[in-house]
Amino acid sequence: MGKALIIGCGGVASVAIHKCCQNSAVFEEIMIASRTKSKCDQLKNELEGKTKTIIHTAQVDADNVAELVALINEFKPEVVLNLALPYQDLTIMDACLETKTHYIDTANYEPLDTAKFEYKWQWAYQERFKEAGITALLGSGFDPGVTGVFSAYAMKHHFDEINEIDILDCNGGDHGYPFATNFNPEINIREVSANGSYWEDGKWIETEPMEIKREYDFKGVGKKDMYLLHHEELESLALNIKGIHRIRFFMTFGQSYLTHLKCLENVGMTSIEPIEFEGKQIVPLQFLKAVLPDPASLGPRTVGKTNIGCIFKGKKDGKDKTYYLYNICDHQECYKEVGSQAISYTTGVPAMIGAMLVMNGTWRGEGVFNIEQFDPDPFMDALNQWGLPWEEDFDPTLVD
Ligand code: NDP
Repeated sequence: MGKALIIGCGGVASVAIHKCCQNSAVFEEIMIASRTKSKCDQLKNELEGKTKTIIHTAQVDADNVAELVALINEFKPEVVLNLALPYQDLTIMDACLETKTHYIDTANYEPLDTAKFEYKWQWAYQERFKEAGITALLGSGFDPGVTGVFSAYAMKHHFDEINEIDILDCNGGDHGYPFATNFNPEINIREVSANGSYWEDGKWIETEPMEIKREYDFKGVGKKDMYLLHHEELESLALNIKGIHRIRFFMTFGQSYLTHLKCLENVGMTSIEPIEFEGKQIVPLQFLKAVLPDPASLGPRTVGKTNIGCIFKGKKDGKDKTYYLYNICDHQECYKEVGSQAISYTTGVPAMIGAMLVMNGTWRGEGVFNIEQFDPDPFMDALNQWGLPWEEDFDPTLVD
């Protein structure tokens, strides 16, 4: 069918690339381009001979629009799948605009110097993408991503209006380290050390970090403590889902993770304010990232399952209704299939699916779209086909 340029070659990209290579009918040719070309070459060597997809590699600085434009003009992909870091979203969108190429990502833009999770910078590209006649698909990971598709599916098939959504993200995996993060530590720690917030009756209610705690019994995992966090899809779902009064996001954390995090925070290691160290400016959180285990190295040691999904409360034919849609994913199964743990897997698979649906024209529009704005059915089918089957429960335990 066509060509995709994949930017970044970390944990999530590695899974998405494995999945593109399993789907050679759509991804006939891919270019893996990242800051460190040797990682791209290593992955290419691993996959070549096992796939019909033709793989190219390149070095690129995705902060540099001119370099990106030159690469896109040379390779001429139908889509660019951005799996670098949220800091690169806008430069990559700029390059897509200049070359009129469709854009897909998994995380909203964040400025380097403030941990802000908002769509406003990317939504500001709406008119320019419309004028260029190209699609930007924002947030095609799991959360954001599958959680938005689940919401659109629930709305389409099960409700006349959805009044409440609770997104529950449970990682029941154990990697055996006292402290490590399952995806990029800098992005992960920025997210969990920020204030929490949820959307209720048209406004944001802000909480202290980890202020709201609940226990939930997750199918496939068991009972876990979970904490309310701000999460980027709350902002778009609050706009796009009809009848919504409240939307919250909870993530599970073990006590050891929280104790380590508190200690690191207390000594200033999670700060994103640059400090002077031996005559050089360093950002403490970036230094911490350098000493923590690389998330890519967790694959072989992580056992257990994830369970991520959404509980919906609303109305159908005038009656109250509840509905829970979720996916259970096994860390070791993922490792056997693609050499990664389930957090990278549950993000990389939807990234490939989003790129596929834009590439084959199933999902197309002119402008900037959050994932729940497209027809969820083809994505839901693809989740079952490509390794993230979903389950449903019509009588779930609710979160108070
Ligand atoms: P990693 O840190 O493992 O990988 C990031 C990759 O981007 C690395 O290969 C890195 O290069 C490359 N990169 C960084 N800066 C540049 C640059 N300036 N130019 C070119 N390449 C660059 O991160 P993850 O794979 O864990 O995460 C990738 C994305 O997925 C992030 O945006 C993250 O927020 C998102 N994510 C989304 C989730 C969801 O459910 N929606 C869940 C988890 C993650 P190098 O190898 O040199 O470091």
